[in-house]
Amino acid sequence: MSEQAQKETLGFQTEVSKLLHLMIHSLYSNPEIFLRELISNASDAADKLRFEALTHADWLSADPELKIWIDVDKEAKTITIRDNGIGMNRQEVIENLGTIARSGTSEFVNNLTGDQKKDAQLIGQFGVGFYSAFVVAQRVEVLTRRAGDEASAGVKWQSQGEGDFSVEAIEKADRGTTIILHLRPTQEEFADAYRLKNIIHKYAEHIAIPVCMREQKWTDDGKEELGDYETVNKAAALWTRPRNEITDEEYQGFYKHISHDFDNALAWNHNKVEGKLEYTSLLFVPKRAPHDLYQREGVRGLKLYVQRVFIMDDAEQFLPMYLRFIKGIVDSNDLPLNVSRELLQSGKVIDSMKSALTRRILDMLSNMAESKPEDYAVCWSQFGNVLKEGVAEDHANQDKILKLLRFASTHSGDALESVALADYVSRMKEGQEKIYYLTAENFTAASQSPHLEVFRKKGVEVLLLTERLDEWLMTHLTEFEGKQFQHIAKGDLDLGKLSSEEDKKAEEQLQEASQPLVERLQKVLADKVQAVKATQRLTDSPACLVRSQYDLGAAMRQILEASGQKLPESKPTLEVNPSHPLVARLADTQSDERFESLALIILDQATLAEGSALADPAAYVKRLNGLLMELV
Ligand code: ADP
Repeated sequence: MSEQAQKETLGFQTEVSKLLHLMIHSLYSNPEIFLRELISNASDAADKLRFEALTHADWLSADPELKIWIDVDKEAKTITIRDNGIGMNRQEVIENLGTIARSGTSEFVNNLTGDQKKDAQLIGQFGVGFYSAFVVAQRVEVLTRRAGDEASAGVKWQSQGEGDFSVEAIEKADRGTTIILHLRPTQEEFADAYRLKNIIHKYAEHIAIPVCMREQKWTDDGKEELGDYETVNKAAALWTRPRNEITDEEYQGFYKHISHDFDNALAWNHNKVEGKLEYTSLLFVPKRAPHDLYQREGVRGLKLYVQRVFIMDDAEQFLPMYLRFIKGIVDSNDLPLNVSRELLQSGKVIDSMKSALTRRILDMLSNMAESKPEDYAVCWSQFGNVLKEGVAEDHANQDKILKLLRFASTHSGDALESVALADYVSRMKEGQEKIYYLTAENFTAASQSPHLEVFRKKGVEVLLLTERLDEWLMTHLTEFEGKQFQHIAKGDLDLGKLSSEEDKKAEEQLQEASQPLVERLQKVLADKVQAVKATQRLTDSPACLVRSQYDLGAAMRQILEASGQKLPESKPTLEVNPSHPLVARLADTQSDERFESLALIILDQATLAEGSALADPAAYVKRLNGLLMELV
């Protein structure tokens, strides 16, 4: 006998052990999903075989009807799930059922908190897969043989889910995989055909091949009585069925099958295209962002079928990068069955499918935003930052994407990003020509900014942008519905027709009256600011900093500097509010030394209010304490 035939005991990868342990404890409230996961794997195995059979017809022709059989034995307390799909060889068994190859696994395991409720959610998000068998089984046996291999190349894998597993060579007459679950005493209720049928209806109705079930009965004298198998599901590829005959539960079941998500989808769109191109798409918006949404190698794309034959997972060519969170399938009648990833890179068919699917998804999102705003709020909170990438990435659809953006604003007054640009425009004041916005580190900093004072006074709404990405986003946004965007802390305050003739006159008078103060300030702050101005921008604060129209924001600056770029120093303009008592006192200050000290404090405070760090915080503290000492 070859060495391979010997029974070999191997340890699970550390992450698997941890995951197994957690899974068994976290899924106790929902153990039935094991069946969904195992049927889902069996169905994938059938898909893979059908694909391989395109080049190895004999692999399928020996036993052409792909099926999943389930045997349940009340006496022995076992459930057996058998498929005639692709099967696995020894090495595949060890890799697939002993490790987790998915990217980000160890990171994911490190994220687990030990809090069972939270972890259960995380595990659901990660996809539980084969290992969920151990939630109900105290011992799992897998007998498998890869299609195309000899009968003697069968493999038996066995484990109690506690750190190790064994593999040995066996004879297996037919290709495919048989999984035997020896139920835990606490889970024996699952050894019941009726119960299992219900679970299949609930979670696996959409499976494209027949799922057949048989209950093993025993005669009084201990002989097995085998009945016939009964097909439990509809056994047609879900997307090929008419929309009005598919229930929401079936769509959700299918979503979970393809996405490995634990949660329901937020929305879906099922569409058949006929004409020059022929294809069917079924697209889903998940409820939660996957843990690898921002990892370059993260999983994305659609499951591709050609004439109902599964071709590949994660075909990313059908979606733009900024829609990488969408899950689904596309089944094409135009692509050749032997299409490869390389072939998918370009071509007319792919390009037009990609742009049609993109529009379809954007429409689905805007429908959701309109008819189910609560759902859209969830979607935005999870994927908003990814959608923003689309503003720069997809010029053709920029208008559609702009309508999907949501921001916090002074109108709602809370940090929730719930204001659409169209809402903003509809609330614009008479004479208002621009869309005003402010970027800041966080919502508190934004909503307390002195720059808002004049807008509050005039009752003009300002969008408050607090995501790191937003400064970058705004460099790509010039206008919405003909209205230009204006950062309220950049450039001269230009309220356009919002400021009356009187306002303008008052401003001129103010500037004239403040001329001596401004000149004096300019002298002491010469090397720190671009200029000093007296304006009406402020009502409650003594001063604020104004950046040039083309200045990089603080967040962009940080990002670029962190990446090693040397940026030219940017000097702000200091705008002072002459009607503020502190500024009035400053103007009256005779002593030059005291004037300079006060001027520097005012400048530093304006810097802090902007959310920037001080160049010399110790000097600021010393100066301020000097003044405080006079009070105590
Ligand atoms: P996932 O299905 O998310 O990849 P699983 O833990 O469920 O993760 O399964 C791991 C791998 O084991 C699968 O990707 C597949 O390659 C293999 N596998 C599981 N079940 C079967 C089966 N019934 N037939 C063939 N291969 C299987």
